[in-house]
This record gives sequence, structure tokens and C-alpha cells, in this order.
Amino acid sequence: MIQTLNIIGGGMAGSEAAWQAANAGIQVVIHEMRPKVETFAHRTGNLGEMVCSNSFRSDDHEQNAVGLLHWEMMQANGLIMQTAYQHRLPAGGALAVDRDPFAESVTAALKAHPNISVSYEEITALPDDDNWIIATGPLTSGALAEAIAAETGAEALAFFDAIAPIVYHDSINMDVAWMQSRYDKGETEEERTAYLNCPMTKDQYEAFIDALLMAEKTEFKEGETAGYFDGCLPIEVMAERGRETLRFGPMKPVGLTNANDPENKPYAVVQLRRDNALGTLYNIVGFQTKMKYGAQKAVFKTIPGLENAEFARLGGIHRNTFINSPTLLDAQMRLRSRPNIRFAGQITGVEGYVESAAMGLLAGRMAVAEITGQALPSVPNTTAMGALVTHITGGAEAKTFQPMNVNFGLFPALDGVKGGRRNRKDRYKAYTDRAKADWQAWLGQTALDAA
Ligand SMILES: Cc1cc2nc3c(=O)[nH]c(=O)nc-3n(C[C@H](O)[C@H](O)[C@H](O)COP(=O)(O)OP(=O)(O)OC[C@H]3O[C@@H](n4cnc5c(N)ncnc54)[C@H](O)[C@@H]3O)c2cc1C
Repeated sequence: MIQTLNIIGGGMAGSEAAWQAANAGIQVVIHEMRPKVETFAHRTGNLGEMVCSNSFRSDDHEQNAVGLLHWEMMQANGLIMQTAYQHRLPAGGALAVDRDPFAESVTAALKAHPNISVSYEEITALPDDDNWIIATGPLTSGALAEAIAAETGAEALAFFDAIAPIVYHDSINMDVAWMQSRYDKGETEEERTAYLNCPMTKDQYEAFIDALLMAEKTEFKEGETAGYFDGCLPIEVMAERGRETLRFGPMKPVGLTNANDPENKPYAVVQLRRDNALGTLYNIVGFQTKMKYGAQKAVFKTIPGLENAEFARLGGIHRNTFINSPTLLDAQMRLRSRPNIRFAGQITGVEGYVESAAMGLLAGRMAVAEITGQALPSVPNTTAMGALVTHITGGAEAKTFQPMNVNFGLFPALDGVKGGRRNRKDRYKAYTDRAKADWQAWLGQTALDAA
């Protein structure tokens, strides 16, 4: 019996998933709503369209986690990466891409594949049977989003991200910061010390507010803002509403005693909360922001304890449809309540062209294994692919889940490799060496390319 894989959405993730499955001998139908139904960001009817910047970011596969993801996808015969290299533009260490020829090539390759057909239609309901991947991205159409919300519960589907900056734990100065939950609340010691606190004097707070007010901000695009102001004001907007607003909001100093200086009551406190099970990443609580990236680094490094902070990702607020993957998806990226449906791409809570394509690659391969009755070993979390999928399907804190870029904070520590800024180069090289070996071993075990 011919088994078909249906993929909703022919963007970065859907295109890659289709390519992987078709190369393994599976018949694939891509259901793509464009050009019949438009989004506010896409301009063409091409598959694999890059909606904004033309960069796949760093191409350094020894020192950068996204460069490593490029490398891993190339090893797995990834269409998106192969096509990106074909249409590469000069951009130093970054992989910039000539966007229109890129998307035209992706479209041509998929359409020319004997196992792939494209159906130009909007899918508006969740399919009851057969194998499906939903890869409809940050701008999933309203009707399908409603169907997803009806299945998952409205609170498990977000329409905006509100990303607070995430800091590597080992770059925080613990001689200044201390661990404590407000009023020592919690049943266990772990809960009572769940937050990392950075104290501020009055002068430091006033300088911080001035810096926030003066910082360069990114403007919202048309169609982006509707609805977001209800839940998550950017900190700079809070600061604009009054100099004390933050001190009565996320920076309130109550219920906390500075363990490094118990006699002095802080005037304000910045709190960070653990962002992953490994405890390597901490997000700055309530600090979603539209400040430009350079400004964010400059302003946040004025926070005592964060002078040398290194950021796994910076903050942002965008129009972005995504599900609460840690609660909704199993390790095979299937919807727990409807295992005939997988999710892939940005809608799973990864962020960026490369990460989205990567999750398409994995979902495609997982679907093939299931359809052909093969057992697919779990992807090692020491690889960039594995670190990312492990994060979204369980490693991330579900309650505060927000979209994530790939970064070394998602990787398990390596025994015998030193932490700290000075050893960073050696540490990253050790991470990428381990990842490459483990990824090749995993690909060898799964052998989907051979079909
Ligand atoms: C305004 C904006 C700017 C962005 N800028 C960047 C950037 O500069 N760099 C970056 O790395 N990332 C950026 N992103 C994120 C980027 O969109 C994703 O990283 C990437 O495109 C996600 O890939 P995807 O396959 O998950 O979704 P997409 O590439 O968006 O593909 C989803 C596809 O599903 C289709 N679709 C949606 N609903 C349906 C339906 N019901 N039926 C059938 N088809 C459907 C859409 O038409 C689309 O083709 C941006 C996102 C937005 C919204």
C-alpha cells in the first residue's frame, strides 16, 4: 500500500520535511495556501520563501551553534541548506542568500521530485487520519489556528512571542547576585531558591531607567501589534509610563534579602528564572523588549551581576503563532492527543529560518520511520538538532515557554571542559566536535538516505 505524508505549509520546515520524506520513498503532498491566501509578510507564491532578512546567520560550524546546525543539515542531505549554499551572497562569516532565486530553486526542486505534489489550498481543520505534519509557521492562517486552539486549549497556542533576554548562567557574577524566591516561597529548597536576583541601588535604578528611555527601539510592523499589549508590555513602554512603574512591577524589591549584603535593602531587584532543565540558561523575568539588539546588551549589562553577561538570545516581541510544545508534543514531535499529526518549524517554538528547517528535517524523518515501521533512535541531545528538539519537547520550562534559537546553552556540559569566557573557544570546539561525531553516528543508524 502506498503511504502518503501530508504536509501543511510549504515554508522552511514543510519544504525540508517533504524533501526528506520523498527521498526516502514516501509519497508527499504539500498543502500550501499561498498564493491563493496571502500573509502580511510573504510576497510570492514560492515554497521556502524568506519573509524578512536574507541571512541564515553564522556559517561557522566549529564555534557557533547555528553554523553547526547548517553542517548537520548538510550531512543529512538537507534541501534548504544545499540551496542556500547554491545562492550564497558575500557576507563575511554569515550565510547570506539571494532570496528569490533561493525560493525559486526550492520550489523547482520539490516540484520536480517524482514523489512530491503540491496542492495549493488552505487547510482549515485538523485531519482525523493518515500522516500529517503541520508546518504552517508564525503566520498560520486564522481558521487553522482556531482548529489547533480548539484541540489544544486556547492557552496552549500563542499569537505573539514576548521574549525576555536569556543569559548563560556561567556568565553571571554570583558575588553580586543571589538565589532566592520572593518570601522564600516553595515546598522544597529548589523552589525556595528558584530565582536569581540582581540588586540595584537608587542611583543604579535611576540610571537604568534613563538608559531604557534613551535606548534605540525597533518599530512594530503593520499588522503586528493588534492584541499584544494586553499581556506583555515591553519594559521600555513600562518605563515610559512612569519612572516607578518597573519598581512596582517586575523589579519590585519586596520579599528578598540580599545574601551577599543582608544589611542593605535593595532599591530594586532584577529577577532571572531558570529557562531549561540543564540549568545553563536563565531568562530575565518580565523583560520582554523591542529595544535593538545592541541597545539591549548595553542596557542589560548595567544590571549589577550582569556586567559580563553573555546572552543566549536577546529579547523581542513579534507576531508569532506557536504552540506550547513541551506539554503538547511527544519526543517524536507528535501531538499527544492526536498522534497522526506532527508539528514542525516555527510553530513548535523554535525561532528562525535555520531552526525551522531543522525541525522540518527531523519531523520528516520521524514520519518516514513511523510510516515504514522502523524504530528511530532518539536524536542525541549533544547535537544541535537533538539539543533543539529536546528543548522544545521537554527540556524547556513549559510554564514560561517562548521561542528559542539554537545556542550552546541547550547542550549538555562536557566533562573536563572548563567553563567561563576565557575557555569559550575550546569549549565550543569541543561541543561541535562531539556533536558532529554523534550526528554522523545517528545518521548512520537511521539510514533513510539509502531508500
Ligand atoms: C514578519 C516576520 C519576520 C521574520 N523575520 C525573520 C528573519 O529575518 N530571520 C529569520 O530567521 N526568521 C524570521 N522570521 C521567522 C520566520 O518566519 C521563520 O523562521 C521561518 O520562515 C519559519 O519557517 P516555517 O516553515 O515554520 O514557517 P513559514 O516559512 O512561514 O512557512 C509556513 C507556510 O505555511 C503556509 N500556511 C499557513 N497556514 C496555512 C494553512 N492553513 N494551510 C496551508 N498553508 C498554510 C504559509 O503560507 C507558509 O508558506 C520572521 C517571521 C515573521 C512573521
